[in-house]
Amino acid sequence: MELSKRLQKIPPYLFVELDRLKNEKIKEGVDVIDLGIGDPDLPTPKEIVEVAKKALENPAYHKYPSNAGSLFFRKACADYMKRRFGISFDPETEILTLIGSKEGIAHFPIAFINPGDVVLYPDPAYPVYRLGAIFTDGESYPMPLTWENDFLPDLTKIPGDILKRAKIIWLNYPNNPTGATATKEYFKELVNFAKKHNLIVAHDAAYIEMYYEEPPISIFEIEGAKDVAIEFHSLSKTFCMTGWRIGFAVGNSSLISALAKVKSNIDSGAFTAIQEAGAYALNNLEKLVPPLVKVFKERRDFLAEELQKLGYEFKKPSATFYLWVKTPKNMSSQEFCKKVLQEVGIVITPGIGFGNAGEGYFRIALTVGVERLKEAIKRLATLKL
Ligand SMILES: *Cc1c(COP(=O)(O)O)cnc(C)c1O
Repeated sequence: MELSKRLQKIPPYLFVELDRLKNEKIKEGVDVIDLGIGDPDLPTPKEIVEVAKKALENPAYHKYPSNAGSLFFRKACADYMKRRFGISFDPETEILTLIGSKEGIAHFPIAFINPGDVVLYPDPAYPVYRLGAIFTDGESYPMPLTWENDFLPDLTKIPGDILKRAKIIWLNYPNNPTGATATKEYFKELVNFAKKHNLIVAHDAAYIEMYYEEPPISIFEIEGAKDVAIEFHSLSKTFCMTGWRIGFAVGNSSLISALAKVKSNIDSGAFTAIQEAGAYALNNLEKLVPPLVKVFKERRDFLAEELQKLGYEFKKPSATFYLWVKTPKNMSSQEFCKKVLQEVGIVITPGIGFGNAGEGYFRIALTVGVERLKEAIKRLATLKL
């Protein structure tokens, strides 16, 4: 059966060879350390699980959920946005429950992209921004994130003819995979730029609570952002809830209602019991999150210090659980990652897998404990370059 042209356009999965090698190593009995996966290893805080268990017993929740999400959950989202960023949102018109932020990110372009419209997306990046353009027969245009630009796209480099056709600009700060954060000045420039060129700003804020120094800002802390922006939030990384599938979109009411219209024709909303657990999590964020962040901070500090001692080059991330590191001796990212797996049994992700501008880097995820990281460092020190 021939795949649709759209599906054929999806870039090939670059990690086939690495996956094969990893499985081969495990079969050989090698104690493989996996620093490749962006999925927190810690369990969801017990209190959240307890709320969900009770909610499961509620027969009202066994029926179809509300399409846009339960009002109590959207209210918890609005309260969080107000407490954390000082911005008010109407839970009924400016917030939408998502079944994990990924589905919202993937579905959003359906509401706005016609064939030939351009979607601007960062490179390297989470692949879903680009896939949304492919699924709508849009065109996608990469904005390179470079070391020199502190991994913030240079908006002046986007060609005029692209800009004329561009409709959505995707950004993600704190950033996966580079670990970079955006400044208020940058977001200000972005909002002005978007207004000038008639762009929708779509900001992915999945890591906005996973920070170790200054709290990262929301796009809505910029005056006038609500005129042009939608922001995608996720409970996945914040509360170690990746398996639960819960997040929300917040922002301009026309953008929110357009996404709601797409979703109401595709899915039937998030399970209400999970929204109840999610509302509890958001309402108790200030108590629940610091113990989790402390664990990742200890890992970040340890790994950053040790990698530096080994001579690796990177910018120490102030947020996210990733380190974005230059490959030594200008090796290609695939070549280096293969060598590390082959010779010392450690899985890391080649930068090229996140886009062409990711070449020359690799990503380490802080998703194993410090003891395992110690072992990883011991092994890396023996690597012959
Ligand atoms: C993990 C991740 C998400 C999505 O998380 P969900 O589990 O779908 O909420 C979105 N964006 C980035 C950059 C991520 O790394």
